[in-house]
Amino acid sequence: MHEIQVHNTLTNKVEPFVPQKAGEVKMYTCGPTVYDYAHIGNFRTFVFQDILRRFLKLRGFKLTHVMNLTDVDDRIIANAAAAGVSIRDYTAKFVQAFFDDCRTLSVESPEHWIRATDHINDMVGLIQTLQKHTYTYDSEGSIYYRISKFKDYGKLSKIDLTGIQAGARVDNDRYEKESARDFALWKAPKAGEHFWETPIGPGRPGWHIECSAMAMKYLGETLDIHTGGIDLAFPHHENEIAQSEAATGKPFVRYWIHAEHLLVEGEKMSKSLGNFFTLRDLFGKGYKPSALRFALASVPYRRQLNFTFDGLQQATNSVERLRNFAARLKNEKFAAGGNAGMGRLIAQFADDFDAGLADDLNAAQALAAMFDFVREANIAMDKGEFRQAEVAPAQKFLADFDAVFAVLEDNDAEKLKALGFATGSDADDAEIEKLVAERQAARQRRDFAASDRIRNELAGRGILLEDTKDGKVRWKRK
Ligand SMILES: [Zn+2]
Repeated sequence: MHEIQVHNTLTNKVEPFVPQKAGEVKMYTCGPTVYDYAHIGNFRTFVFQDILRRFLKLRGFKLTHVMNLTDVDDRIIANAAAAGVSIRDYTAKFVQAFFDDCRTLSVESPEHWIRATDHINDMVGLIQTLQKHTYTYDSEGSIYYRISKFKDYGKLSKIDLTGIQAGARVDNDRYEKESARDFALWKAPKAGEHFWETPIGPGRPGWHIECSAMAMKYLGETLDIHTGGIDLAFPHHENEIAQSEAATGKPFVRYWIHAEHLLVEGEKMSKSLGNFFTLRDLFGKGYKPSALRFALASVPYRRQLNFTFDGLQQATNSVERLRNFAARLKNEKFAAGGNAGMGRLIAQFADDFDAGLADDLNAAQALAAMFDFVREANIAMDKGEFRQAEVAPAQKFLADFDAVFAVLEDNDAEKLKALGFATGSDADDAEIEKLVAERQAARQRRDFAASDRIRNELAGRGILLEDTKDGKVRWKRK
C-alpha cells in the first residue's frame, strides 16, 4: 500500500497524511444550508468527501466524521418568517430531500449528522469564551469578532489584510475576500424573525460560529481533517480558524481539504443561465444515480469538474461496462487452474488503483487502473485464458474498488422509485413517438450525443428502443 498524501490548503502543499492518533481520523464536513434542494455543484463536494471517507475506511482507519445541517442562516430565518412557520417546519422538507439525495447517490452517512438548531448553547458557550479572551466587542445588540486581534487571520485563504480598517464590520454570513471585516458571532434579533433568549442576549448565531462550536464539541479542539468546497475557504473556514484557535490556543485543523468548483458545459452554473441542476432534474431526464455519482467522482477533486451531458452519458456507459464485467466474473465458468500472468496483472492494477487514490485522491488514475484491468481481463476471458484461480483476486479488486466508488450494485431503479420517479412507463404514446422522432433526426444529423441522450431518457421512463435493419425504430415498454 502506498503512503496517503493529501493537499492541505493551509500549507498549499501535498503532504503525507498522518492523523493525530494512529488508526483514527476525526473529520468534519460543512453540510448543506437547508433552504432549498442541493444542486450538483454541492454534490460534487459531498461525493468527494464520501470518496475520501470511504478510502480512509478501506485503509482501515476508524472514522469519526461529523457533518452539520446549517439550519440557522440569514436566508432560512428570513424565508421561515416570510412563510410564517418555524425554522424546523421550514427546513424539514429540504433536510429530508438532502438525506434522500445522499442515499440515492450512495453518499454514506457520517457518524454524526447534527443540526445547528440543536447546538445553540454550545455556540453561546464558545462566544462567551471568546468574550473572556477579549476577541469580541458588542454593537447594537450584536457581538462581533475582532479580526485584528487574531495574528494568524488570513493564514488559510492567504488574503492580504493591509488596508483593512480596524472596527469595520460585516453582518452578512457570506462575503467576498475584498470585504474581510470583523464578522458577527451573534446577531441581534430582527423584527418578526426567530431568535433565542440566551445569557449573551437575545439573537441568533452567525454561520461561522456554528461550525466551530459543533466541530469541537464532537471532535475535540484539534481535528484531523476539515473538508468543504473551495468557496468556503473564505470567509467561512478562515473565520472558523479564528474563532476556534482564539478560544483554545491550539491548532483547529491539521488538514484542510477543499474540492474545486463544478462548471456546466464550461460555464458557471446559475439559474439565470438555465444550466442549474438538482439531482432530481437529472433523474427526471432519465439519468441514473450511479451515472451521476460516477461522473462527479471521476474527476480529481482539485480540478474543476466540467459537467456535460456527453460526460454523463459516458459515465452511464462506464458503469454499465463495470457491471457487465462484474456479472461476467460471477457467472461465467472458467477453466480450472491459474494463469500466473493474469495473477500478476491483477496485483499490478490493484496496486495502481491504490496508488492513484493515495496520491491526493487521484480518481482519474484509480479509475484508469480499473478500466485497464477490465479490458485485459475481458480479452483473456474471450481467449479462454482467464482461470478459476484468478476469480477471487479479481473479485477482491472489484470489491475494493466498489468500497470507494460504490456504483456496481444495480439498484438505480429502486432508488429512483424511492424518490418518486416512475420507473415503469408513464409516458403516453404520442410523447414517446415524438421523442423517438427527435432521436431519429439527431441520428440523421450524426449528433450521437443527442441521440444517446434521448435513448437514455426513454430508457429511464421504461421505454426500450430497437433499431431495425431498414433504418426504422421500434419501441416497447419494459
Ligand atoms: Zn461550516
